[in-house]
Amino acid sequence: MKLKSDQTTARAMNRRLILNLLRQDGPKSRAELATITQLSPAAVTFVVADLMGEGVVIEGKAVSGSTGRRPTPVQIDYDHGVAIGFKLMADTVECVATDLATNPIAAIRIPMPSKAPDDVADLLAVTVPRLIGLAERPQAKIAGIGISMPGVINHEQTICVRSHRFNWDNVPLASLLARRVNVPVWLEDDTNAYAIAQQLFGLGRQHRNMAVLAVGVGISCALVIEGKLYRGANGAAGKFGHTLFEENGRLCECGKRGCLMAYHSEASILRRWKEARGGGEDLGAPELRQALVAEDPAAVAIVGEAGRGIGTALANLVNVTDPEVIVAGGEAVSLGEYFLAPLREAFSLRTFRSPPPILPDWEDNSWARGAAALVTQRMFDFESSGGITGIGENGYGPARAS
Ligand SMILES: [Zn+2]
Repeated sequence: MKLKSDQTTARAMNRRLILNLLRQDGPKSRAELATITQLSPAAVTFVVADLMGEGVVIEGKAVSGSTGRRPTPVQIDYDHGVAIGFKLMADTVECVATDLATNPIAAIRIPMPSKAPDDVADLLAVTVPRLIGLAERPQAKIAGIGISMPGVINHEQTICVRSHRFNWDNVPLASLLARRVNVPVWLEDDTNAYAIAQQLFGLGRQHRNMAVLAVGVGISCALVIEGKLYRGANGAAGKFGHTLFEENGRLCECGKRGCLMAYHSEASILRRWKEARGGGEDLGAPELRQALVAEDPAAVAIVGEAGRGIGTALANLVNVTDPEVIVAGGEAVSLGEYFLAPLREAFSLRTFRSPPPILPDWEDNSWARGAAALVTQRMFDFESSGGITGIGENGYGPARAS
């Protein structure tokens, strides 16, 4: 039996190697795959035949070169399934249906009137057929649903262990949804999900070590180390916003004082700017952006201070983890160079080596795409945990990736 299991593992590893190569570099012929992976041509043919049988890979068009007809390349068929992503925000949900490369084919934002777990699961369940209708891909199979939310998530058990923003403890949200729909469901911290999407199909595609900074309602920084998302011992890695900014300072949502995000998250930037304006007015992110363009001194100073504060803290993180690049996302990135220039400046003053490049992500829908990436990551990593389905012992069991 040992031999059989070894063969299964070897096959799974070859499969992962080939799929990741096709993801990173695009279409390749079987001969090219064998040369690059150093697998035998027979092993490549075997894996490719398996993948074609499942509809994961298709043959592309053979191109004629100067030396005659080139061998037929194979490529991933990202249209063979639909992934659904839900990003839970403060009182809305961003919803997308994507192809398997997380390209959106339908997107809506819906209000979330209640944060009671069963109400949230009901809301998401009724939104699934709505999204599928909008996607207009009747032939495509629903590969699964990914949910991302801020918090400490046990991604293996797909449980929200703690979310300060939702005031949830040990909520099995994925199981609650899986009971209502008939496809696997994944749950992940929102910045981790965003980092997975960036690693698979975004700015981190060519990097094995990167930090993914998110500055929005909170501040966090996910780490991809040697090609794998680093979750820590308790799924609580990356809570960068709760590192100390000021001793005995402002109260944070976590209950402690002086956290970085209590000063420099986008929400804190807005609050501080409103205070500087004497309060009272209904001022939001669009007004802040207008004030920056008009070079309003208070706006420029507060946003610059946030950039510098985060930049200095980020240098500490970089000195410990040494990433190749830093991908920066979240609402604050839309504050542009008013935010990013001071951040880069403070950052480069404190890094031990020359600072790694900061790559801002300007894409729309990036966060909901992150949730959808939870579904597609399974194709590329046989070690990743399966989602939860509505079938199994006591009703809900994990659907292991094959
Ligand atoms: Zn905190």
